[in-house]
Amino acid sequence: MKKVSRSVPSPGDLGIEVIKVPDGATVELDLRLESVMEGVLVTGTAEAPLTGECVRCLEPIERELETDFQELFSYPDADTRTARRDEAGDDAEEEDTLFLEADLFDLEPVLRDAVVLALPLQPVCRDDCPGLCSECGARLADDPDHHHEVTDIRWAALQDFQKSGADQGADENQEK
Ligand SMILES: [Zn+2]
Ligand SMILES: [Zn+2]
Repeated sequence: MKKVSRSVPSPGDLGIEVIKVPDGATVELDLRLESVMEGVLVTGTAEAPLTGECVRCLEPIERELETDFQELFSYPDADTRTARRDEAGDDAEEEDTLFLEADLFDLEPVLRDAVVLALPLQPVCRDDCPGLCSECGARLADDPDHHHEVTDIRWAALQDFQKSGADQGADENQEK
């Protein structure tokens, strides 16, 4: 068994539309590699920053993602392994990719699946976010007493109607 910790840049588009790991942000991987009959069993955790938008009030939100994953990487046939091991050994190139070892595997698809499963589908800035005022779009969390005298244009019309019925000839511009 072998333990590996790596920091890799996010491969981009890691997440869903409303919340994701910013492109290029650092993803911390802690991996445990176990040799099994068929290949290498990789058990790991990934930690990364998340940025998104509250689905109710559209405020930017920041979170930390932590997710677990496990995947079996089967051995390719022996010839391929030898060839790929010979090509590698270029440390500089490895830094920029998600290949953890010369002949190991590409974790990106695994990471992608794990991240998407761990994300909230409806991220909110806080559980009781009251959202936006349907009338003017103000953020209600910033202003709990926010309200409008006239909440609906249909009611406004009705008020005008009542007024003109009760007081014919009154100045129509006069409100209330
Ligand atoms: Zn919100
Ligand atoms: Zn309002």
